[in-house]
Amino acid sequence: SIQVDNISKRFGSLEVLKNVTIDLKQGEFAAIVGPSGCGKSTVLRMIAGLDTPTEGHVTANQKPIKDPDPSRVLIFQEHALYPWRTVEKNVGFGLELAGVPKQKRKEKVGELLEKVGLGGFQTYYPHQLSGGMRQRASIARALAMEPEVLLLDEPFGALDAITKITMQNELLRLWEGSGKTVLLITHDIDEAIYLADTIHVMSPRPGQIVETVRSTIPRPRNRNGADFVQVRE
Ligand code: ATP
Ligand code: MG
Repeated sequence: SIQVDNISKRFGSLEVLKNVTIDLKQGEFAAIVGPSGCGKSTVLRMIAGLDTPTEGHVTANQKPIKDPDPSRVLIFQEHALYPWRTVEKNVGFGLELAGVPKQKRKEKVGELLEKVGLGGFQTYYPHQLSGGMRQRASIARALAMEPEVLLLDEPFGALDAITKITMQNELLRLWEGSGKTVLLITHDIDEAIYLADTIHVMSPRPGQIVETVRSTIPRPRNRNGADFVQVRE
């Protein structure tokens, strides 16, 4: 489990986060929603080990998070792929570092690309893909690492409505029963309600958690009318 324990963060004189506490249980699907600039990415960066709080602690299984760790993978808002690497090389990058042999890598990357709807695009370079395709490739790259904790910063932001729904459902399928912990940042409240069990609502200046609510849609989730009726009640 991940504990964000009463953290505050200042950048110089700017107070970005104030007394933020988030308890992320193993296997939980949680979301953070809040207006632009309220500090959502800053929270995620600290859980990823890319930044440290000014006050308070962030721990994973009771151990302080100090550095990035392959068991917690962050998918950035700007979803940077290496421009000089093909899709296959990008998605297989972590596997290559982990010493997975070439043939095995090829198979695994192929499967993942199918999953995110990029089957057959192995030899493409990032600039030859659309924005949404690049985003899906970066999701595949993160999944290749089989992380215990997936930190997703607006992963579906640039996708069209149809692809977005497909990817949301794919994410649910990958998550359900996997025991993986997911923390998703989104501007899309409907997305948070549909995907997450727990939704942390942030307000800005300084960033604070003002409310933590639980989604009432029963699992397994599907987008039929009955589910939505239950949310509105
Ligand atoms: P968005 O929804 O637009 O992505 P966000 O909620 O993710 O916004 P953050 O990126 O966490 O917001 O930024 C929160 C605040 O912290 C902003 O005011 C930003 O300017 C400031 N900030 C973030 N990183 C730094 C930094 N490295 N140095 C100075 N200020 C920073
Ligand atoms: Mg952000």
